[in-house]
Amino acid sequence: MMEEIKNVKGTHDVFGDENNAYEKVESLMKSIAEIYAYKGVRPPVLEYNSVFVRGVGQASDVVRKEMYTFADKGGRDLTLRPEFTAGIMRLAIQNKLYATNELPLKLYYVGPVFRYERPQLGRYRQFNQFGVESIGHNSPMNDVEVIVLAYTILSSLGLENVKIKINTLGDEASRNAYRTALKEYFAQYIDNMCEDCKSRFELNPLRILDCKVPEDRLIIDKSPKIGAYLSKESKERFDAVLEALEALQIPYEIDQGLVRGLDYYSETVFEFHYKSNKGNDYGAIGAGGHYGSLMKELGGPDLPGVGFSFGIERIVSVLSDNELLNDIAYELDAYIMPLDKSLDLYAQEVAVVLRNSGGYKVDVCFDNVKLGNMFKRATNKNAKYAIIIGEDEAKAESVVLKDLASQEQQTVKIEDLVDKLDELYESSYPEEEEK
Ligand code: AMP
Repeated sequence: MMEEIKNVKGTHDVFGDENNAYEKVESLMKSIAEIYAYKGVRPPVLEYNSVFVRGVGQASDVVRKEMYTFADKGGRDLTLRPEFTAGIMRLAIQNKLYATNELPLKLYYVGPVFRYERPQLGRYRQFNQFGVESIGHNSPMNDVEVIVLAYTILSSLGLENVKIKINTLGDEASRNAYRTALKEYFAQYIDNMCEDCKSRFELNPLRILDCKVPEDRLIIDKSPKIGAYLSKESKERFDAVLEALEALQIPYEIDQGLVRGLDYYSETVFEFHYKSNKGNDYGAIGAGGHYGSLMKELGGPDLPGVGFSFGIERIVSVLSDNELLNDIAYELDAYIMPLDKSLDLYAQEVAVVLRNSGGYKVDVCFDNVKLGNMFKRATNKNAKYAIIIGEDEAKAESVVLKDLASQEQQTVKIEDLVDKLDELYESSYPEEEEK
């Protein structure tokens, strides 16, 4: 018997309504990033291994345990990207984007990333990220901008009361002082801590703060906090970020245990948390921070940057749990129904007018099935309007426009159709009444 062919462990197929949700979520993210003056980039999925080893860092779990690394037929050491930031820095350096553009260089991306992790709720081996990078300008206002952008995207998706956890890792001097203090503190306990903590103790004691083992947590919770080791400059920088978030009414919570899994972060770091109404905890739905020397580390100029990344799978799951997907689900503005084969060309013309002049999303039924059947298809396609075309309508260069929710219908001349739909859409979203 032939072996059953299945998808690879930790990957998942996306199709049907779920695919519509991904498309909608991603296009909303892109359009808001565009409003914030970010431009799209598409770095390759494959990079030389060294991009991530040097970029993400030897001490990170991602590089130590999770990378899909292999030698290709030409003997090159390659890695399927486990995240975008290091690849984007490589792209910016190689193409000298920092020299030919006004800084900060503002870029966004979306696409799959690969990590060999243990699959579980909200954790895949191939998943999709959307994110932005603002590169080359050191003002804390850039940190603020990317946080506001991320928050705006989540609110626009209908996710209210997102919890923003924020912390600062300080500059290099602050981190060195803090590392020394942590090392001193953990030295007393490390022999009784988990194996992961033991190697983190050697590689980068800051990483111990991420440990989830309950017995270790008791020790970690009493460990020194970064706040006491910050340089004056780092403290001022962090205060400026917090002050701006307050002025912009972006709620946040300081979490001094937040260190982030990738080694390149310095100064501001943050995570977005949201528990779905069903109580499912998908962990962080997005995260990011400032990176001081990533570009230099990768052989580029000494320019800082700041960015965030959302996990699309987790966001779609949260939206689905909260029944918010219908609000953003694929919706056809109109489904056009010619009542006879001889009316197909006229229906095609109507569709072209609506699509090209009106920008409306429409589909035509060229199957000449019974009217009842066409209405069923319109409902299945989640269309707002049905456009019915009989011989009389064609002769009069008009159509019957039917609102599928209210069942109200009217005859409209084809030359008035776009204006009519504009008008109907406008009146279905009435402006808020003045108080
Ligand atoms: P990171 O690049 O680790 O900062 O992760 C950024 C975001 O990607 C996280 O906040 C998650 O939403 C998402 N993410 C990280 N790892 C996974 C995974 N294994 N499966 C699905 N989403 C993930």
